[in-house]
Amino acid sequence: MISILLTAILAIPAAQAKINRLHFAPGDVITRDVVIIGGGAAGSHAAVRLKQNHGKSVVVVERESNLGGHVNTHIDEETGQIHDYGVQVYFPFEDAMDFFKQVNVTTYVNPGFGNNVNKFVDFTTGQALPDFKAVDAGLGIGAIKKYYDLTIAKGYDKMTEPGYWGLPAGKDIPADLLLPIGEFVKKYDIEPMLQMMYPSTGGDVASRGNFAQVMTLTFMKDFPTAWAKAYLGEVPMYRVEGGNQRLYDKIAALLGSDVLYDSLIEESHRSDSGVEVVVINKKGERKLVVARQLLVAVPPSRENLLPFDRNIRESSHFQKAKYGRSHTGIIANTKLPKDTTLRNMPSAAVQHPLYPFLKLPFVLSFSHYGSTSKLFSLGVSGENYTAFEVEEAQATAQRSLEIISKAGTIPPLDGEPLKVVAWSDHGVGGFGVSPEDMRNGWMTEMNNLQGYRSTWYTGGALAADFTTTVWKFNDQVLARMVKAVR
Ligand SMILES: Cc1cc2nc3c(=O)[nH]c(=O)nc-3n(C[C@H](O)[C@H](O)[C@H](O)COP(=O)(O)OP(=O)(O)OC[C@H]3O[C@@H](n4cnc5c(N)ncnc54)[C@H](O)[C@@H]3O)c2cc1C
Repeated sequence: MISILLTAILAIPAAQAKINRLHFAPGDVITRDVVIIGGGAAGSHAAVRLKQNHGKSVVVVERESNLGGHVNTHIDEETGQIHDYGVQVYFPFEDAMDFFKQVNVTTYVNPGFGNNVNKFVDFTTGQALPDFKAVDAGLGIGAIKKYYDLTIAKGYDKMTEPGYWGLPAGKDIPADLLLPIGEFVKKYDIEPMLQMMYPSTGGDVASRGNFAQVMTLTFMKDFPTAWAKAYLGEVPMYRVEGGNQRLYDKIAALLGSDVLYDSLIEESHRSDSGVEVVVINKKGERKLVVARQLLVAVPPSRENLLPFDRNIRESSHFQKAKYGRSHTGIIANTKLPKDTTLRNMPSAAVQHPLYPFLKLPFVLSFSHYGSTSKLFSLGVSGENYTAFEVEEAQATAQRSLEIISKAGTIPPLDGEPLKVVAWSDHGVGGFGVSPEDMRNGWMTEMNNLQGYRSTWYTGGALAADFTTTVWKFNDQVLARMVKAVR
Protein backbone atom coordinates (compact mmCIF):
# COMPACT_ATOMS: atom_id res chain seq x y z
CA MET A 1 0.00 0.00 0.00
CA ILE A 2 2.76 2.42 0.98
CA SER A 3 4.61 1.77 -2.27
CA ILE A 4 1.43 2.45 -4.28
CA LEU A 5 1.01 5.71 -2.40
CA LEU A 6 4.62 6.69 -2.97
CA THR A 7 4.33 5.93 -6.68
CA ALA A 8 1.25 8.14 -6.87
CA ILE A 9 3.00 10.93 -4.98
CA LEU A 10 6.17 10.78 -7.08
CA ALA A 11 4.14 10.89 -10.29
CA ILE A 12 2.82 14.30 -9.27
CA PRO A 13 4.40 17.47 -10.74
CA ALA A 14 6.51 19.52 -8.42
CA ALA A 15 4.11 22.05 -6.94
CA GLN A 16 5.41 23.10 -3.55
CA ALA A 17 3.50 20.64 -1.41
CA LYS A 18 1.40 22.40 1.20
CA ILE A 19 -1.65 20.19 1.04
CA ASN A 20 -0.97 16.87 2.70
CA ARG A 21 -1.19 14.34 -0.12
CA LEU A 22 -1.15 11.47 2.34
CA HIS A 23 -4.72 12.43 3.25
CA PHE A 24 -5.82 11.26 -0.20
CA ALA A 25 -6.04 7.69 -1.47
CA PRO A 26 -4.22 7.26 -4.81
CA GLY A 27 -7.56 6.95 -6.61
CA ASP A 28 -8.55 10.37 -5.28
CA VAL A 29 -5.51 12.14 -6.68
CA ILE A 30 -6.01 13.53 -10.19
CA THR A 31 -2.93 14.66 -12.09
CA ARG A 32 -3.42 16.89 -15.11
CA ASP A 33 -1.68 19.58 -17.15
CA VAL A 34 -4.49 22.06 -16.46
CA VAL A 35 -7.29 22.25 -13.89
CA ILE A 36 -10.16 24.46 -15.05
CA ILE A 37 -12.59 26.00 -12.58
CA GLY A 38 -16.04 26.46 -14.16
CA GLY A 39 -17.58 24.61 -17.08
CA GLY A 40 -19.55 27.38 -18.75
CA ALA A 41 -18.86 28.84 -22.18
CA ALA A 42 -15.24 29.60 -21.31
CA GLY A 43 -14.33 26.54 -19.24
CA SER A 44 -15.95 23.99 -21.58
CA HIS A 45 -14.40 25.56 -24.67
CA ALA A 46 -10.99 25.77 -22.99
CA ALA A 47 -11.16 22.10 -21.99
CA VAL A 48 -11.84 20.97 -25.56
CA ARG A 49 -9.22 23.29 -27.05
CA LEU A 50 -6.56 22.26 -24.55
CA LYS A 51 -7.21 18.59 -25.19
CA GLN A 52 -7.77 18.60 -28.93
CA ASN A 53 -5.72 21.58 -30.15
CA HIS A 54 -2.88 21.64 -27.64
CA GLY A 55 -2.63 17.98 -26.56
CA LYS A 56 -2.95 18.83 -22.86
CA SER A 57 -4.72 16.82 -20.19
CA VAL A 58 -7.43 18.66 -18.27
CA VAL A 59 -9.97 18.33 -15.52
CA VAL A 60 -12.92 20.73 -15.17
CA VAL A 61 -14.41 21.51 -11.75
CA GLU A 62 -18.06 22.52 -12.22
CA ARG A 63 -20.44 23.59 -9.46
CA GLU A 64 -23.58 22.39 -11.26
CA SER A 65 -24.59 18.96 -12.52
CA ASN A 66 -24.15 19.96 -16.17
CA LEU A 67 -21.93 22.11 -18.37
CA GLY A 68 -23.06 25.30 -20.08
CA GLY A 69 -23.25 28.09 -17.50
CA HIS A 70 -25.61 30.78 -18.78
CA VAL A 71 -27.12 28.41 -21.34
CA ASN A 72 -30.59 27.20 -20.34
CA THR A 73 -32.80 25.16 -22.63
CA HIS A 74 -36.35 24.23 -21.68
CA ILE A 75 -38.56 21.97 -23.77
CA ASP A 76 -42.27 22.68 -23.35
CA GLU A 77 -43.86 19.30 -22.68
CA GLU A 78 -47.22 20.41 -24.09
CA THR A 79 -46.15 22.06 -27.33
CA GLY A 80 -42.71 20.48 -27.82
CA GLN A 81 -41.32 23.99 -28.39
CA ILE A 82 -37.68 24.52 -27.49
CA HIS A 83 -37.09 27.62 -25.38
CA ASP A 84 -33.61 28.93 -24.77
CA TYR A 85 -34.16 31.27 -21.85
CA GLY A 86 -30.50 32.01 -21.05
CA VAL A 87 -28.10 32.40 -23.98
CA GLN A 88 -30.20 32.79 -27.11
CA VAL A 89 -28.03 33.28 -30.16
CA TYR A 90 -24.44 33.09 -31.39
CA PHE A 91 -22.82 35.46 -33.84
CA PRO A 92 -19.61 35.15 -35.83
CA PHE A 93 -16.52 36.72 -34.32
CA GLU A 94 -13.29 36.01 -36.18
CA ASP A 95 -13.30 32.22 -36.68
CA ALA A 96 -15.07 31.39 -33.40
CA MET A 97 -18.06 29.75 -35.10
CA ASP A 98 -15.73 26.95 -36.28
CA PHE A 99 -15.93 25.57 -32.76
CA PHE A 100 -19.43 24.27 -33.48
CA LYS A 101 -17.94 22.18 -36.28
CA GLN A 102 -15.10 21.03 -34.03
CA VAL A 103 -17.60 19.52 -31.60
CA ASN A 104 -19.93 18.41 -34.37
CA VAL A 105 -22.93 20.55 -33.47
CA THR A 106 -25.34 21.91 -36.09
CA THR A 107 -26.43 25.54 -36.08
CA TYR A 108 -29.07 27.37 -38.06
CA VAL A 109 -29.73 31.03 -38.75
CA ASN A 110 -31.96 32.59 -36.11
CA PRO A 111 -35.36 33.14 -37.74
CA GLY A 112 -36.09 36.09 -35.42
CA PHE A 113 -37.25 36.78 -31.90
CA GLY A 114 -41.00 36.23 -32.34
CA ASN A 115 -43.80 38.56 -33.37
CA ASN A 116 -45.01 39.82 -30.01
CA VAL A 117 -46.59 43.23 -29.70
CA ASN A 118 -44.78 45.45 -27.16
CA LYS A 119 -46.88 46.98 -24.41
CA PHE A 120 -45.14 49.42 -22.09
CA VAL A 121 -46.10 49.28 -18.41
CA ASP A 122 -44.54 50.84 -15.33
CA PHE A 123 -44.15 47.79 -13.09
CA THR A 124 -43.83 50.01 -9.99
CA THR A 125 -47.33 51.51 -10.51
CA GLY A 126 -48.81 48.83 -12.74
CA GLN A 127 -50.06 51.53 -15.14
CA ALA A 128 -49.86 51.05 -18.89
CA LEU A 129 -48.02 53.89 -20.64
CA PRO A 130 -49.84 54.37 -23.95
CA ASP A 131 -48.09 57.73 -24.42
CA PHE A 132 -44.60 56.26 -24.25
CA LYS A 133 -42.91 56.61 -27.62
CA ALA A 134 -40.42 53.93 -28.53
CA VAL A 135 -37.55 55.51 -30.40
CA ASP A 136 -38.05 55.59 -34.15
CA ALA A 137 -36.40 52.41 -35.43
CA GLY A 138 -34.49 54.26 -38.15
CA LEU A 139 -33.15 56.78 -35.64
CA GLY A 140 -32.13 54.08 -33.15
CA ILE A 141 -30.48 51.86 -35.75
CA GLY A 142 -28.79 54.92 -37.26
CA ALA A 143 -27.32 55.75 -33.85
CA ILE A 144 -26.11 52.18 -33.34
CA LYS A 145 -24.51 52.26 -36.80
CA LYS A 146 -22.74 55.48 -35.84
CA TYR A 147 -21.57 53.87 -32.57
CA TYR A 148 -20.33 50.88 -34.57
CA ASP A 149 -18.47 53.05 -37.09
CA LEU A 150 -16.90 55.28 -34.48
CA THR A 151 -15.70 52.42 -32.26
CA ILE A 152 -13.91 51.00 -35.28
CA ALA A 153 -12.61 54.36 -36.53
CA LYS A 154 -11.14 55.13 -33.11
CA GLY A 155 -9.77 51.63 -32.65
CA TYR A 156 -11.90 50.99 -29.54
CA ASP A 157 -12.91 47.59 -30.93
CA LYS A 158 -9.27 46.47 -30.97
CA MET A 159 -8.80 47.72 -27.42
CA THR A 160 -11.80 45.84 -26.05
CA GLU A 161 -12.27 42.72 -28.17
CA PRO A 162 -12.12 39.93 -27.56
CA GLY A 163 -10.39 40.93 -24.31
CA TYR A 164 -8.33 43.87 -23.18
CA TRP A 165 -4.75 43.02 -24.10
CA GLY A 166 -4.92 45.93 -26.56
CA LEU A 167 -6.20 48.47 -24.05
CA PRO A 168 -3.57 51.15 -23.44
CA ALA A 169 -2.08 51.22 -19.97
CA GLY A 170 -3.87 53.14 -17.17
CA LYS A 171 -3.49 56.85 -17.84
CA ASP A 172 -3.31 56.27 -21.61
CA ILE A 173 -6.80 54.75 -21.81
CA PRO A 174 -8.79 57.06 -24.10
CA ALA A 175 -10.88 59.45 -21.99
CA ASP A 176 -13.95 58.45 -24.05
CA LEU A 177 -13.87 54.93 -22.63
CA LEU A 178 -13.87 56.17 -19.05
CA LEU A 179 -16.85 58.52 -19.56
CA PRO A 180 -20.26 57.54 -18.21
CA ILE A 181 -22.17 56.07 -21.15
CA GLY A 182 -24.78 58.85 -20.74
CA GLU A 183 -22.07 61.44 -21.53
CA PHE A 184 -20.48 59.34 -24.27
CA VAL A 185 -23.72 59.14 -26.26
CA LYS A 186 -24.32 62.88 -25.86
CA LYS A 187 -20.78 63.68 -26.97
CA TYR A 188 -21.26 61.69 -30.18
CA ASP A 189 -24.93 62.58 -30.69
CA ILE A 190 -26.03 58.96 -30.51
CA GLU A 191 -28.44 59.12 -27.55
CA PRO A 192 -31.25 57.22 -29.32
CA MET A 193 -29.16 54.07 -29.33
CA LEU A 194 -29.49 53.60 -25.56
CA GLN A 195 -33.23 52.94 -25.63
CA MET A 196 -32.68 50.10 -28.08
CA MET A 197 -29.56 48.73 -26.41
CA TYR A 198 -30.89 48.80 -22.85
CA PRO A 199 -32.93 45.58 -23.02
CA SER A 200 -30.02 43.72 -24.59
CA THR A 201 -27.69 44.80 -21.77
CA GLY A 202 -30.51 44.59 -19.23
CA GLY A 203 -29.27 41.71 -17.13
CA ASP A 204 -25.74 42.82 -16.62
CA VAL A 205 -25.01 46.49 -17.21
CA ALA A 206 -28.45 47.46 -15.92
CA SER A 207 -27.78 45.65 -12.67
CA ARG A 208 -25.19 48.31 -11.91
CA GLY A 209 -27.80 50.83 -10.77
CA ASN A 210 -27.74 54.16 -12.54
CA PHE A 211 -27.35 53.04 -16.14
CA ALA A 212 -26.42 56.43 -17.58
CA GLN A 213 -23.52 56.54 -15.10
CA VAL A 214 -22.06 53.20 -16.19
CA MET A 215 -18.54 53.61 -17.55
CA THR A 216 -18.41 53.34 -21.35
CA LEU A 217 -15.77 50.59 -21.10
CA THR A 218 -18.16 48.54 -18.94
CA PHE A 219 -21.04 49.24 -21.31
CA MET A 220 -18.91 48.14 -24.28
CA LYS A 221 -18.24 44.85 -22.56
CA ASP A 222 -21.96 44.07 -22.88
CA PHE A 223 -22.50 45.90 -26.16
CA PRO A 224 -19.19 45.39 -27.96
CA THR A 225 -18.62 46.40 -31.56
CA ALA A 226 -18.92 42.73 -32.57
CA TRP A 227 -22.44 42.53 -31.13
CA ALA A 228 -23.38 45.85 -32.75
CA LYS A 229 -22.39 44.28 -36.08
CA ALA A 230 -24.75 41.33 -35.49
CA TYR A 231 -27.45 43.63 -34.11
CA LEU A 232 -27.26 45.68 -37.31
CA GLY A 233 -27.71 42.50 -39.34
CA GLU A 234 -24.27 42.67 -40.96
CA VAL A 235 -23.62 39.08 -39.85
CA PRO A 236 -26.29 36.49 -39.06
CA MET A 237 -27.14 35.20 -35.62
CA TYR A 238 -27.30 31.45 -35.09
CA ARG A 239 -29.03 28.97 -32.81
CA VAL A 240 -28.14 25.38 -32.07
CA GLU A 241 -30.31 22.66 -33.56
CA GLY A 242 -32.22 21.09 -30.66
CA GLY A 243 -31.46 23.95 -28.25
CA ASN A 244 -28.28 25.59 -27.04
CA GLN A 245 -27.77 23.08 -24.21
CA ARG A 246 -27.03 20.45 -26.85
CA LEU A 247 -23.64 22.07 -27.50
CA TYR A 248 -22.61 21.61 -23.89
CA ASP A 249 -24.08 18.11 -23.63
CA LYS A 250 -21.90 17.21 -26.61
CA ILE A 251 -18.86 18.71 -24.89
CA ALA A 252 -19.76 16.83 -21.69
CA ALA A 253 -19.76 13.57 -23.67
CA LEU A 254 -16.39 14.47 -25.21
CA LEU A 255 -14.84 15.24 -21.83
CA GLY A 256 -16.38 12.29 -19.99
CA SER A 257 -14.75 11.76 -16.60
CA ASP A 258 -12.56 14.84 -17.11
CA VAL A 259 -15.37 16.86 -15.50
CA LEU A 260 -16.02 16.83 -11.76
CA TYR A 261 -19.69 17.88 -11.43
CA ASP A 262 -21.48 19.28 -8.38
CA SER A 263 -18.06 20.26 -7.15
CA LEU A 264 -16.37 23.26 -5.62
CA ILE A 265 -12.84 24.16 -4.64
CA GLU A 266 -12.22 23.77 -0.94
CA GLU A 267 -8.62 24.95 -0.75
CA SER A 268 -5.63 25.45 -2.98
CA HIS A 269 -1.92 25.86 -2.95
CA ARG A 270 -0.40 27.66 -5.92
CA SER A 271 3.18 28.43 -6.83
CA ASP A 272 5.13 29.22 -9.98
CA SER A 273 5.82 25.52 -10.44
CA GLY A 274 2.26 24.19 -10.22
CA VAL A 275 -0.98 24.04 -8.29
CA GLU A 276 -2.73 21.73 -5.88
CA VAL A 277 -6.46 22.05 -5.50
CA VAL A 278 -8.77 20.21 -3.12
CA VAL A 279 -12.17 19.65 -4.70
CA ILE A 280 -15.23 18.69 -2.70
CA ASN A 281 -18.50 17.45 -4.21
CA LYS A 282 -22.06 17.63 -2.91
CA LYS A 283 -21.67 14.28 -1.16
CA GLY A 284 -18.69 15.63 0.77
CA GLU A 285 -16.18 13.49 -1.18
CA ARG A 286 -12.79 15.10 -1.68
CA LYS A 287 -10.29 14.80 -4.48
CA LEU A 288 -6.86 16.33 -4.82
CA VAL A 289 -6.10 17.78 -8.22
CA VAL A 290 -2.45 18.39 -8.97
CA ALA A 291 -1.78 20.36 -12.11
CA ARG A 292 0.83 22.48 -13.79
CA GLN A 293 -1.63 25.30 -14.48
CA LEU A 294 -4.93 26.55 -13.11
CA LEU A 295 -7.48 28.27 -15.36
CA VAL A 296 -10.08 30.33 -13.52
CA ALA A 297 -13.14 30.28 -15.81
CA VAL A 298 -15.59 31.69 -13.26
CA PRO A 299 -16.00 35.38 -12.44
CA PRO A 300 -13.15 36.23 -10.06
CA SER A 301 -15.55 37.56 -7.42
CA ARG A 302 -14.56 37.60 -3.77
CA GLU A 303 -16.78 34.57 -3.09
CA ASN A 304 -15.42 32.50 -5.97
CA LEU A 305 -11.84 33.27 -4.98
CA LEU A 306 -12.37 32.72 -1.25
CA PRO A 307 -11.12 29.09 -1.21
CA PHE A 308 -7.96 30.04 -3.08
CA ASP A 309 -4.74 30.88 -1.31
CA ARG A 310 -4.82 34.51 -2.39
CA ASN A 311 -2.01 36.83 -1.45
CA ILE A 312 -2.31 40.57 -0.86
CA ARG A 313 -1.54 41.43 -4.46
CA GLU A 314 -4.36 39.22 -5.77
CA SER A 315 -6.88 40.15 -3.07
CA SER A 316 -6.42 43.88 -3.44
CA HIS A 317 -6.73 43.59 -7.22
CA PHE A 318 -9.88 41.50 -7.40
CA GLN A 319 -11.75 43.25 -4.60
CA LYS A 320 -11.95 46.36 -6.79
CA ALA A 321 -14.39 44.70 -9.21
CA LYS A 322 -18.10 45.07 -8.37
CA TYR A 323 -20.71 42.74 -9.79
CA GLY A 324 -24.42 42.70 -10.55
CA ARG A 325 -26.69 39.68 -10.56
CA SER A 326 -29.48 38.58 -12.86
CA HIS A 327 -31.94 35.74 -13.21
CA THR A 328 -34.00 34.47 -16.12
CA GLY A 329 -36.95 32.14 -16.00
CA ILE A 330 -40.07 30.76 -17.56
CA ILE A 331 -43.42 31.01 -15.83
CA ALA A 332 -46.86 29.61 -16.65
CA ASN A 333 -49.52 32.27 -16.27
CA THR A 334 -53.18 32.61 -17.18
CA LYS A 335 -53.52 36.40 -16.71
CA LEU A 336 -50.69 37.86 -18.76
CA PRO A 337 -51.63 38.86 -22.31
CA LYS A 338 -50.86 36.45 -25.15
CA ASP A 339 -48.63 37.34 -28.12
CA THR A 340 -47.46 40.35 -26.12
CA THR A 341 -44.32 41.48 -24.36
CA LEU A 342 -45.08 43.60 -21.30
CA ARG A 343 -41.99 45.82 -21.13
CA ASN A 344 -41.24 47.47 -17.81
CA MET A 345 -40.86 51.17 -18.42
CA PRO A 346 -40.50 53.94 -15.84
CA SER A 347 -43.35 56.50 -16.10
CA ALA A 348 -40.69 59.23 -16.40
CA ALA A 349 -39.73 57.77 -19.79
CA VAL A 350 -42.95 59.21 -21.26
CA GLN A 351 -41.27 62.62 -20.89
CA HIS A 352 -37.72 61.36 -21.42
CA PRO A 353 -38.03 58.47 -23.86
CA LEU A 354 -34.28 58.23 -24.44
CA TYR A 355 -33.81 57.31 -20.77
CA PRO A 356 -35.89 54.14 -20.16
CA PHE A 357 -33.76 53.06 -17.23
CA LEU A 358 -35.26 51.10 -14.34
CA LYS A 359 -34.57 51.14 -10.62
CA LEU A 360 -33.25 47.91 -9.13
CA PRO A 361 -34.49 45.33 -8.45
CA PHE A 362 -36.69 44.98 -11.52
CA VAL A 363 -38.31 42.59 -13.96
CA LEU A 364 -37.35 43.71 -17.45
CA SER A 365 -40.34 42.14 -19.19
CA PHE A 366 -42.88 39.34 -19.26
CA SER A 367 -42.82 37.93 -22.77
CA HIS A 368 -45.29 35.42 -24.18
CA TYR A 369 -43.85 32.48 -26.11
CA GLY A 370 -46.59 32.89 -28.71
CA SER A 371 -49.48 30.96 -30.26
CA THR A 372 -50.97 28.33 -27.93
CA SER A 373 -48.21 28.43 -25.33
CA LYS A 374 -49.09 29.04 -21.67
CA LEU A 375 -45.53 30.11 -20.98
CA PHE A 376 -43.83 33.49 -20.57
CA SER A 377 -40.18 34.33 -20.25
CA LEU A 378 -38.84 36.93 -17.86
CA GLY A 379 -35.56 38.44 -16.74
CA VAL A 380 -34.93 39.90 -13.28
CA SER A 381 -31.99 42.01 -12.15
CA GLY A 382 -30.82 42.96 -8.68
CA GLU A 383 -28.08 45.20 -7.38
CA ASN A 384 -26.62 43.46 -4.36
CA TYR A 385 -25.17 40.37 -5.97
CA THR A 386 -24.57 38.49 -2.77
CA ALA A 387 -28.16 39.00 -1.58
CA PHE A 388 -30.20 38.75 -4.76
CA GLU A 389 -30.94 35.06 -4.41
CA VAL A 390 -33.58 33.05 -6.30
CA GLU A 391 -36.23 33.67 -3.61
CA GLU A 392 -35.71 37.44 -3.80
CA ALA A 393 -35.75 37.45 -7.61
CA GLN A 394 -38.94 35.39 -7.72
CA ALA A 395 -40.54 37.61 -5.05
CA THR A 396 -39.70 40.61 -7.27
CA ALA A 397 -41.49 38.91 -10.18
CA GLN A 398 -44.52 38.06 -8.02
CA ARG A 399 -44.71 41.66 -6.68
CA SER A 400 -44.63 43.00 -10.26
CA LEU A 401 -47.52 40.75 -11.28
CA GLU A 402 -49.54 41.83 -8.23
CA ILE A 403 -48.95 45.53 -8.91
CA ILE A 404 -49.83 45.23 -12.60
CA SER A 405 -52.95 43.29 -11.76
CA LYS A 406 -54.09 45.65 -8.96
CA ALA A 407 -53.79 48.55 -11.39
CA GLY A 408 -56.15 46.70 -13.75
CA THR A 409 -53.58 46.37 -16.52
CA ILE A 410 -54.03 42.59 -16.40
CA PRO A 411 -57.04 40.75 -14.88
CA PRO A 412 -57.13 40.07 -11.10
CA LEU A 413 -54.65 37.36 -10.10
CA ASP A 414 -57.32 35.64 -7.94
CA GLY A 415 -54.54 34.22 -5.79
CA GLU A 416 -52.66 32.71 -8.74
CA PRO A 417 -49.11 32.23 -7.47
CA LEU A 418 -45.96 32.64 -9.54
CA LYS A 419 -45.79 29.29 -11.29
CA VAL A 420 -42.13 28.80 -12.10
CA VAL A 421 -41.56 26.29 -14.88
CA ALA A 422 -37.83 26.86 -15.23
CA TRP A 423 -35.42 29.24 -13.53
CA SER A 424 -31.79 30.15 -13.80
CA ASP A 425 -29.76 32.24 -11.40
CA HIS A 426 -27.08 33.68 -13.64
CA GLY A 427 -25.05 34.74 -10.65
CA VAL A 428 -22.51 37.50 -10.75
CA GLY A 429 -21.83 39.26 -14.02
CA GLY A 430 -19.67 41.91 -15.59
CA PHE A 431 -16.82 43.90 -14.13
CA GLY A 432 -17.70 47.13 -12.42
CA VAL A 433 -14.23 48.54 -11.96
CA SER A 434 -14.29 52.31 -11.40
CA PRO A 435 -12.76 54.76 -13.90
CA GLU A 436 -10.24 55.74 -11.19
CA ASP A 437 -9.09 52.14 -10.76
CA MET A 438 -8.90 51.75 -14.54
CA ARG A 439 -6.79 54.89 -14.77
CA ASN A 440 -4.61 53.51 -12.00
CA GLY A 441 -3.83 50.47 -14.11
CA TRP A 442 -6.35 47.82 -13.04
CA MET A 443 -6.39 46.21 -16.47
CA THR A 444 -2.62 46.29 -16.85
CA GLU A 445 -2.33 44.52 -13.52
CA MET A 446 -5.04 42.05 -14.66
CA ASN A 447 -2.93 41.20 -17.69
CA ASN A 448 0.17 40.93 -15.51
CA LEU A 449 -1.63 38.50 -13.22
CA GLN A 450 -2.14 36.13 -16.14
CA GLY A 451 0.17 33.22 -15.38
CA TYR A 452 1.20 34.54 -11.96
CA ARG A 453 1.47 31.60 -9.55
CA SER A 454 0.53 29.25 -12.43
CA THR A 455 -2.95 30.81 -12.52
CA TRP A 456 -4.78 32.16 -15.57
CA TYR A 457 -8.12 33.92 -15.91
CA THR A 458 -10.72 33.79 -18.65
CA GLY A 459 -14.46 34.14 -19.22
CA GLY A 460 -17.17 36.70 -19.61
CA ALA A 461 -15.96 38.64 -16.59
CA LEU A 462 -12.74 39.55 -18.41
CA ALA A 463 -13.71 39.71 -22.08
CA ALA A 464 -16.36 41.15 -24.36
CA ASP A 465 -19.23 39.25 -22.79
CA PHE A 466 -20.63 37.08 -25.58
CA THR A 467 -19.94 33.44 -26.24
CA THR A 468 -17.94 33.80 -29.43
CA THR A 469 -15.85 36.70 -28.13
CA VAL A 470 -15.20 34.74 -24.93
CA TRP A 471 -14.06 31.77 -27.02
CA LYS A 472 -11.60 33.91 -28.94
CA PHE A 473 -10.34 35.45 -25.70
CA ASN A 474 -9.88 31.89 -24.47
CA ASP A 475 -7.74 31.07 -27.48
CA GLN A 476 -5.49 34.01 -26.64
CA VAL A 477 -5.20 33.02 -22.98
CA LEU A 478 -4.54 29.37 -23.85
CA ALA A 479 -1.86 30.27 -26.39
CA ARG A 480 -0.05 32.26 -23.70
CA MET A 481 -0.51 29.51 -21.14
CA VAL A 482 0.80 26.78 -23.40
CA LYS A 483 3.79 28.92 -24.42
CA ALA A 484 4.59 29.67 -20.79
CA VAL A 485 4.87 26.00 -19.84
CA ARG A 486 6.49 24.63 -22.98
C1 LIG B 1 -29.18 35.84 -19.41
C2 LIG B 1 -28.00 35.85 -20.32
C3 LIG B 1 -28.19 35.76 -21.69
C4 LIG B 1 -27.10 35.76 -22.54
N1 LIG B 1 -27.33 35.66 -23.88
C5 LIG B 1 -26.28 35.54 -24.72
C6 LIG B 1 -26.51 35.32 -26.10
O1 LIG B 1 -27.65 35.23 -26.57
N2 LIG B 1 -25.42 35.15 -26.90
C7 LIG B 1 -24.15 35.20 -26.42
O2 LIG B 1 -23.20 34.99 -27.19
N3 LIG B 1 -23.91 35.45 -25.11
C8 LIG B 1 -24.95 35.62 -24.26
N4 LIG B 1 -24.72 35.85 -22.93
C9 LIG B 1 -23.34 36.01 -22.47
C10 LIG B 1 -22.67 34.66 -22.34
O3 LIG B 1 -23.51 33.82 -21.63
C11 LIG B 1 -21.35 34.81 -21.62
O4 LIG B 1 -20.48 35.59 -22.42
C12 LIG B 1 -20.67 33.49 -21.36
O5 LIG B 1 -21.55 32.57 -20.77
C13 LIG B 1 -19.50 33.70 -20.42
O6 LIG B 1 -18.91 32.45 -20.20
P1 LIG B 1 -18.25 32.09 -18.81
O7 LIG B 1 -17.74 30.71 -18.94
O8 LIG B 1 -17.35 33.16 -18.37
O9 LIG B 1 -19.46 32.11 -17.76
P2 LIG B 1 -20.60 31.06 -17.55
O10 LIG B 1 -21.13 30.60 -18.84
O11 LIG B 1 -21.52 31.65 -16.55
O12 LIG B 1 -19.87 29.82 -16.86
C14 LIG B 1 -19.40 29.82 -15.56
C15 LIG B 1 -19.50 28.38 -15.06
O13 LIG B 1 -18.84 28.26 -13.82
C16 LIG B 1 -19.67 27.59 -12.90
N5 LIG B 1 -19.31 28.12 -11.59
C17 LIG B 1 -19.61 29.33 -11.06
N6 LIG B 1 -19.01 29.48 -9.88
C18 LIG B 1 -18.31 28.34 -9.65
C19 LIG B 1 -17.45 27.92 -8.61
N7 LIG B 1 -17.22 28.69 -7.55
N8 LIG B 1 -16.85 26.71 -8.72
C20 LIG B 1 -17.09 25.91 -9.79
N9 LIG B 1 -17.89 26.26 -10.81
C21 LIG B 1 -18.49 27.47 -10.75
C22 LIG B 1 -21.08 27.92 -13.32
O14 LIG B 1 -21.98 26.93 -12.87
C23 LIG B 1 -20.93 27.94 -14.84
O15 LIG B 1 -21.11 26.68 -15.41
C24 LIG B 1 -25.79 35.87 -22.04
C25 LIG B 1 -25.59 35.98 -20.66
C26 LIG B 1 -26.67 35.96 -19.79
C27 LIG B 1 -26.45 36.06 -18.32
